[in-house]
Amino acid sequence: MGFGAFHGNLEVVRRLREMLARGHFPQAVVLAGPRGAGKFTLAQMLAKTMNCLAPRQTDGLPDFCGECSNCRRIALADDLDARLAEAVEARENLREADKRETRLFVQTHPDVMIIPPDPPQMMIKVDQVRHVIAEIYYRPSDARERVFIFTDSAFMKEAANSLLKVLEEPPEFATLFLLSENPGELLPTIRSRSIIFTLAPLPAAEMEKYLAAERRELAPKQRALVARLAGGAVGEARRFDLDAYAAARKEALLVLETAVRGDDHSALFRATEGYRAGADGKEKTDHLIRTLYGLLEDLLALKSNTPELVRNTDVAGELGRLAEAVDFEWIASAAQRLGEVESGMRRNLLRSLSLDAFAASLEPA
Ligand SMILES: [Zn+2]
Repeated sequence: MGFGAFHGNLEVVRRLREMLARGHFPQAVVLAGPRGAGKFTLAQMLAKTMNCLAPRQTDGLPDFCGECSNCRRIALADDLDARLAEAVEARENLREADKRETRLFVQTHPDVMIIPPDPPQMMIKVDQVRHVIAEIYYRPSDARERVFIFTDSAFMKEAANSLLKVLEEPPEFATLFLLSENPGELLPTIRSRSIIFTLAPLPAAEMEKYLAAERRELAPKQRALVARLAGGAVGEARRFDLDAYAAARKEALLVLETAVRGDDHSALFRATEGYRAGADGKEKTDHLIRTLYGLLEDLLALKSNTPELVRNTDVAGELGRLAEAVDFEWIASAAQRLGEVESGMRRNLLRSLSLDAFAASLEPA
């Protein structure tokens, strides 16, 4: 319980807690870092500390008890994926007209509101920010501080402009957290009104130690692989599913090999058949895209003569053959095309089609 349970980034955590201790916590904080780095966990811990009814100190800095009614109610949202799935399902069950007007929020404590990107576009929408504006000026009811946690920095344009208005004059009793994998995505005017803290990846040795304690089912070799593949992100390592990853990677390698060879698409078509619309297809496609990015990074590492940076060490043979067949320009263009597939997905274009087109677009002329 408490900040002792947060892994890594001791320095960032200490600075945030020192600001709490001095009573000078910034009103808008960007927590940046890769997926699974602990951004949400840290925001939740800070929200609990701000509002704990039995506050305590550890290492001479403010901490939360985890047991009072405020801590417990805020903690109900710790499992954000589960709460989000419930919120999405509740909306699905509404009448068509209400469904369109209902925006997603997770709120397990009246003074702590979590604003997730809204599916299917997975962006934060203007109605969500309007709701925050309607709420933020009320004093906290059961807590000392009202906390708003935006879990993603992909804002629709109008939503970003509305958020900016809040940041220009937030009430003194409110704190906003903006979680971001890529703070460059935020408007410069939003960034300049916030204080940015970046969560760095956990060093590999620390990560393996963490995995040895938390995931004993993994063999030492698998732990080393997960530590590399999770890219130093604790949350990612904790839930990393090696079997699912291996399956996605097999298809990602097929996409790349098909593109490099430039012939026989039948295997690729068979593989991409499984990537259809719907929540299931979207998750699968997201997974595939992340895996493709990872493989492209490994190819870049091989081409740059830095094989020690390769993460997919268990498929070194396949990667080596691919690396021989491509050049830097091909890798850069593949990464760019992949970005286009990703933004196409945000606009909800036909997924399997764009994956086939992705492979075709990379073929030698
Ligand atoms: Zn408490």
